Parts: sequence; C-alpha cells; structure tokens
Amino acid sequence: MKPTHIEHIGIAVKHLDEAIPYYEQLLGTKCYAIEEVLDQKVKTAFFKIGQTKIELLESLEPEGPVGKFIEKKGEGIHHIAFAVNGLEKALEEVKKDGIRLIDERPRKGAEGLQIAFLHPRSTFGVLTELCEDSSC
Ligand code: ZN
Repeated sequence: MKPTHIEHIGIAVKHLDEAIPYYEQLLGTKCYAIEEVLDQKVKTAFFKIGQTKIELLESLEPEGPVGKFIEKKGEGIHHIAFAVNGLEKALEEVKKDGIRLIDERPRKGAEGLQIAFLHPRSTFGVLTELCEDSSC
C-alpha cells in the first residue's frame, strides 16, 4: 500500500460554531462544507489547506464514537486519513500485515468518499482512516 497524500486530519470538537471561526482565522480560509454523517453520528465541517483538509467533528449524540472520544480524552486530534487508490485492495494488504481493522469493507464517509478505519490498537494509538475518492 502506498497512500498518495494525507487526505484530512479529523479533529473532535464540542461545538462546531465555536471551532469554525477559529479555524477560519487560523487558516485564512472559509469553511467550505458542513455535512452530517449519520453513520458516525457526527456533523463535520471542512477546510482546505493545500491538498489536505481539516475535518472538524462534532458529535450528534454523546453515545456516538466522537462523543465518547471527547468524554474520555477531551477535544483534540481524533484521526488521520490517508488517501489511497484501490481501498479494498489496501484493506486486504493491511489485514494481511496483521493490522486490526474496524471496517472490514469500505463504507460511505463525508464528501462522497469511501472510507475504512484501522484500529488504534494496531496503529500505535492513532485512529487511522484510509479513504478513496470513488468519483474519480
Ligand atoms: Zn475522516
């Protein structure tokens, strides 16, 4: 597997409406998309910086994965996402390497991406997402 770039960095925040102005100021760019991903019980806000994005994540409910994350660890970096060509094949490869998967098969993420998460127990504590833009 050879990812092409860091697609995005996911950051867990308690309130998007508080975090968005900060990132707009910091990055000198407007948030260009807000999207709910019901699958993961989150509302996301995106910023573009070069070919990488910052994905802010606000939990829609305390019991969601991001809600639990914030309760346990507080706000902060939640995951890192690498762009790959051929997500299914990449998943097979990492699995063969003994890395534990959270998602055995790709599922739909924000921005029309196909995504899958690797388990942080297998990735030195970093929740790792692999994603592929299936529209191209
Ligand atoms: Zn993500």
